[in-house]
Amino acid sequence: VKILAIETSCDETAVAVVENGNKVLVNEVLSQIDIHKEFGGVVPEVASRYHMEGIIPLIEKALKGSGLTLEDVDAVAVTNGPGLIGALLVGVSAAKALAFSLNKPLIAVNHLSGHIYANFIDNEVEFPLVTLIVSGGHTDLIYMDGHLNYEILGQTRDDAAGEAFDKIARAMNLGYPGGPIVDNMAKNGEDSIKFPRVHLEKGSYDFSFSGLKSAVINHLHNQKQKGLEINVEDVCASFQQAVVDVLVDKTIECAKHKKVKNVLMAGGVSANSALRELMSQRCQKEKLNLYYPPLKYCTDNAAMIGAVAFHQFIAQDFAPLDLNAYSSMSLND
Ligand code: ATP
Ligand code: MG
Ligand code: FE
Repeated sequence: VKILAIETSCDETAVAVVENGNKVLVNEVLSQIDIHKEFGGVVPEVASRYHMEGIIPLIEKALKGSGLTLEDVDAVAVTNGPGLIGALLVGVSAAKALAFSLNKPLIAVNHLSGHIYANFIDNEVEFPLVTLIVSGGHTDLIYMDGHLNYEILGQTRDDAAGEAFDKIARAMNLGYPGGPIVDNMAKNGEDSIKFPRVHLEKGSYDFSFSGLKSAVINHLHNQKQKGLEINVEDVCASFQQAVVDVLVDKTIECAKHKKVKNVLMAGGVSANSALRELMSQRCQKEKLNLYYPPLKYCTDNAAMIGAVAFHQFIAQDFAPLDLNAYSSMSLND
């Protein structure tokens, strides 16, 4: 089964063709990072306009690059939430037009399912499992005992992990997006500043990162007021360690609580080198199998959407041609 997948939920226009949910025949990503950089973050209206320009040429490029034609495709899949509404609508409209004209099924995919299924590309993953989604907009712990079956165990109560990375990078004028920059700077710094690790109530798998973000901003402010130097690398390393400690502790606790052997990480922040390192160490110690996607499938892409869509295709979970997009959407919607 070959699925043409489209993803336009944020600032990446992405098109892929995926076979049987795990073999990527082509994966094209047109990133708008250079455009939004100027503004220090994604400008929704600008994102929509670039998706509008980019989407059809990118589909043509993907087909040409893979030697496939639209006739070879068995279904058209598209992200219909969560994300920026104007951005999502561009992908949804394109997918509907294709499905309608080709008379092939349309499959509506949740962006977060996509992040999780990035782990299934070129890989055998065993259930049951616990997955940590850490992205620009989400920090969730989810239990799965089979395909497309999600039990949400924890969520962030305020900022997402990636959002915290982006905000503290912005406070230090490091550039956008902040995650990869902080990750790099942290390599030359030390965890020398005591920032809070917020674990919330015992037994809770929720997260909270806004207190940590404020602590970093207060530190920067206080140093400035006292006329003291700010060691940016140490701030990055200390902040990152505080985030990673909590993410790893909660994921391991959650895996033990659900008595699973398999742990997944997904989303942009799963590219973080400190997170990968500590999670690997802890999983090894606890005899858990750890999976995380290759770097190119951590951040937004359409291959991951095609990976989920295959399982929806098998389940005959098709979308009607009046499909809409939704800015917020739970995994179980
Ligand atoms: P969502 O998936 O929740 O809708 P999104 O699509 O914007 O949000 P992703 O594309 O999954 O999020 O990930 C982008 C986020 O990942 C950004 O916040 C970025 O800073 C962060 N990120 C990317 N690489 C790293 C890294 N090496 N370390 C930490 N954070 C990173
Ligand atoms: Mg992005
Ligand atoms: Fe994403």
